[in-house]
Amino acid sequence: MNRPGLYVHVPFCRTKCPYCDFYSVTSLSLVPAWLDALQREVLIYRDRFGSFDSLYLGGGTPTILGSRELTRLMEVLFQDLSFSRDPEITIEANPDDITKEKTALLRDLGFNRISLGVQSLNEKELQFLQRRHSAKQAEEAIEIIQASGYTNLGIDLMYGLPGQDESVWMATLRRILVYNPAHISCYQMTISKGTPFYRMLKQGRIQATGEERERAFFLLTSAYLEENGYVHYEISNFAREEKTMSRHNIKYWRHVPYLGLGPSAHSFLKGLRWWNLRSVDGYCQALDCGRRPVEDRERLTEEQVWLESLFLGFRTREGVKRKLIEGSPNSGSTLREIRSAGLVTLHGDRIIPTREGFILADSLPLLFSH
Ligand code: SF4
Repeated sequence: MNRPGLYVHVPFCRTKCPYCDFYSVTSLSLVPAWLDALQREVLIYRDRFGSFDSLYLGGGTPTILGSRELTRLMEVLFQDLSFSRDPEITIEANPDDITKEKTALLRDLGFNRISLGVQSLNEKELQFLQRRHSAKQAEEAIEIIQASGYTNLGIDLMYGLPGQDESVWMATLRRILVYNPAHISCYQMTISKGTPFYRMLKQGRIQATGEERERAFFLLTSAYLEENGYVHYEISNFAREEKTMSRHNIKYWRHVPYLGLGPSAHSFLKGLRWWNLRSVDGYCQALDCGRRPVEDRERLTEEQVWLESLFLGFRTREGVKRKLIEGSPNSGSTLREIRSAGLVTLHGDRIIPTREGFILADSLPLLFSH
């Protein structure tokens, strides 16, 4: 689990969803140039990270790539980077790309985990989100993936949509549980600056959900999935069992080194964080000219690493080690207060956030900062 993870950003989508803040473009004409550039970027990092035990193909929409492109991509990665014997290999998939042939190809290429972007099983919500798939297509995609023998299937859902009714959200969750997926991610909708939804919000055409309702959705979701046997192991993530938790994402939360390849991808190694240009053109041009496609970097101070460890720890069921807060002023009394408020519990040498504590995960670390 402490080996480095590899992330590859596939910056292409068929259309842009109006709430999405991830970097992607809708023209596929740059795919060949992006693959050439990626091959160059791989060579830069060939010996710098050691062997990876997770690979995560995210985006964008990685399943938009055809079989030749996906095959070449995997060859590029496995030819020059080193991997442990049994890496977790995940691909983010859109339901409208899933066919029997595609799933068979993914298996042949070594993908052992699929993260399927379903978002909702309500037709009206899917139309509002401008997703390309219907609820029926999403369910068919789940069935195809499961019939092809994939046991490690993750379903991504979104709640807290403007005007969403709790009963509609619960109907989606109930329906998803029929398929008993190994992993469920439930992301609260955030409306980010620069997105079409943000403009609609400013024009008063949609309403933000509001803190109280967001809180209610969160508590309902957590309670329902835990009652149904899922472990709520990170604010937005639920696993059927320990072995189906996302090995790759856990690395981000534990400050384990990771390498991000592709436009806009972030990397972290020995206290240094850097991120790539948020432009396919800029990324390709930099690598064509023999330059690293890095937009910027920051060296974290010891204090920043410490504070981040608290922020990341309080977002997970692993919590934070007690000794991390011992040097802070009033740590004993603060800990007593948040314990008696039901925000954390103590397990051995760790402070573990409760469900209520998860809601305040972003403010808990500040109580201990110097
Ligand atoms: S398909 Fe995914 S990455 Fe692409 S625009 Fe929609 S939400 Fe964003």
